[in-house]
Amino acid sequence: MRTGPPTLGAPDDRLGVLFDIDGTLLDTRGAGQRSFVRALETVFGWRDDIAYVSFAGNTDLNVLQQVMAAHGRELNETDRRTFFARLPEELERAAEGVELILFPGVRELLEALSAAPRALLGLVTGNIEACARIKLRHCELHGHFVLGAFGDEHADRERIAHLALQRLHEALAPGARLSACYLVGDTPFDITAASSIGAVSVAVATGKFDAAALRQAGADHVLTDLSDTAAVLRLLGLR
Ligand SMILES: [Mg+2]
Repeated sequence: MRTGPPTLGAPDDRLGVLFDIDGTLLDTRGAGQRSFVRALETVFGWRDDIAYVSFAGNTDLNVLQQVMAAHGRELNETDRRTFFARLPEELERAAEGVELILFPGVRELLEALSAAPRALLGLVTGNIEACARIKLRHCELHGHFVLGAFGDEHADRERIAHLALQRLHEALAPGARLSACYLVGDTPFDITAASSIGAVSVAVATGKFDAAALRQAGADHVLTDLSDTAAVLRLLGLR
């Protein structure tokens, strides 16, 4: 399943295309991190700029675990629930008046894929579901994805990718089969997650990692960005 474009022969062959959000589709201009900082203060009373945490390719649950550990505390279920209930509210506030950056070609690509009857679009993101929805809604990208797996479901991105793959299979109509799966992301963590589910990795250099670093990390395909819709569709075997 990892080499070349899929051979979508039979009419019931489906193609799974999974997308990361931050650094891949859009950039929140720091609103994501600011919301985390604010929520830490409102929920735990901590003033912590969390500069020691790297958000790129990370998951919200893992970030929270790292911060708790830095404060000498183990994450319990009540804290987890309270924090993630607060985070979306803080994200809305942090994103207010901020024009999120939508990367070149993203809207056109998602529209083309949504119109392709064989493509099933999903999310594999470190965002908790409510925050993923807010970011997509701010960029008017909601409505393209039929499924997703999120950063409050597991701290480990590979496990999140496995959940998404499972949901792709569940989303298939009776008699249909998943003939290939692609995962589009901007960090080495997305590449590893793709590989862990047998998906073809498409790395885009719109995040914190340049093309050379993504190639070095073993991406199956590396693109500067998603601006060439026709080229991406060809890569996915849809044209
Ligand atoms: Mg990302």
